[in-house]
Amino acid sequence: MSRWSSGSQSGLREANTAKIVDAVKRFGGLTQVELAEATSLSTATVSAIVKELSLSGLVETHPTSRSGRRAQLVTIARRAGVVAAVQIGSRSMRVRLADVGQEVLAERAMPLPADHPDDTVLDRITLLVIDMLAMIAADAEELLGVCIAVPAPVDPDSGLIAYHGVMRRWEAQPIAAVVEQRLGCPVLVEKDANLAALAEATLGTARDVADSLFVQASYTTSAGVVLGSQMYRGRSGTAGEIGHVQVDPAGSVCPCGQRGCLETVVGAEAITAPLRATYGQITFRDVIARAAAGDPGCARVVADAAATLGRVVAGVHQSLAPEVITVGGELIDAGPIFLLPFATALRDHAPQRRTPRRDPVPSSFGKDAVLVGATIHILQSTDPSQLLEDRS
Ligand SMILES: [Zn+2]
Repeated sequence: MSRWSSGSQSGLREANTAKIVDAVKRFGGLTQVELAEATSLSTATVSAIVKELSLSGLVETHPTSRSGRRAQLVTIARRAGVVAAVQIGSRSMRVRLADVGQEVLAERAMPLPADHPDDTVLDRITLLVIDMLAMIAADAEELLGVCIAVPAPVDPDSGLIAYHGVMRRWEAQPIAAVVEQRLGCPVLVEKDANLAALAEATLGTARDVADSLFVQASYTTSAGVVLGSQMYRGRSGTAGEIGHVQVDPAGSVCPCGQRGCLETVVGAEAITAPLRATYGQITFRDVIARAAAGDPGCARVVADAAATLGRVVAGVHQSLAPEVITVGGELIDAGPIFLLPFATALRDHAPQRRTPRRDPVPSSFGKDAVLVGATIHILQSTDPSQLLEDRS
């Protein structure tokens, strides 16, 4: 066999292996027949690759039954317990199970209605986590903790949403206590941008510096601050709440009760509203995709939003002087259309220094930044060996 053909065959084998590992992570656990269906590979190929993966310790097989027949459930091998990271967004929810080595074991996403009610969502989280544990053949006792990310600041003392109006139906809900009671393990609740900031500070763009800022340019607008390598929440957990900095004293009224907050100018509603007359019912994601593809109208609103955001972040930069500014959230998918005016505004609205400032950088983790941070946060606050001992 020539070197060329053996090279391409091992490339194919690697690609098939990656397909299988992805499918197992996506579904949490599948039988070999289900894996063959999910990956469009033959059962013989699946069987050979699963054997190889289980010998190398990457996957495990557990006896199970499907339609009355015995089968082997294939899951990602896990080390000493499982944690769940939950991201509640404006329109969707994601749940990820990971082991103590941060290896992703399973992941699910589900849409949420606009202005979702807290009790229904908390029920769904509980059921989904239980269902996903079953999918990876894990016992409830293996769940070491849960971290729930919300798109609003959380008061660390009360555990409640810190601002009135920004997550209307959640204000009286002690989220951590409710989920803790249902799942029987420690639960943390944290602002999404803080967790993304933690992810970048631990493993991403800001891993080599002590002070950094993560700017979340998504359906809502926020920032997470890391000072001295620690998440900095400030009084009542509202540090980094740039979305509620006033940028237009005559602007529209924000859900927080102020007039002309940054979020009323750069949030999803502000970005889509001016385009409706021309584009009809266009979504936030549509605008971003069209802006990235060069549509001039969509590019205009994204660039204007980026410039306004950059001006506000310049103010934060002046007061905190972080070494690294990372930007994440859906808007960075617009690419340079967003990033260039953002960086320019940041540069233009702060005095020139003798040492050049670093330009803002896009998130290392993209749409996964919050879940990566939530996983790190719950792992940092639980001692898996201790918890397992307590339960045995
Ligand atoms: Zn506001």
